[in-house]
Amino acid sequence: MSDLEQSLQADLAEQTISLANHFAEAHEDADLWDIADELLAGAIHYWLFSRQPCENRACDECADVATAERRQARLRTLVDELAESSFYYHSPTDHNAAHS
Ligand SMILES: [Zn+2]
Repeated sequence: MSDLEQSLQADLAEQTISLANHFAEAHEDADLWDIADELLAGAIHYWLFSRQPCENRACDECADVATAERRQARLRTLVDELAESSFYYHSPTDHNAAHS
């Protein structure tokens, strides 16, 4: 990943979290799970928008996203990777966490 891509990724992640925190502070009665679900819905919507294949049915670059099922499979793989790389993937309160 290039420096520009890392910078863009860090900036977008920070701004997304900032938006969620701002929304939660502005709407104290809102459920954090609902806020997170709606942020995720927006992100998925944008991701799917960005992965529309071009009109060339022989395009190699678009082969992995040429159908809804392929796009969804790729999205699931990405979601798994991002979740597993998150600081919050494991929680000290996980029910399968070891307690001493
Ligand atoms: Zn293409």
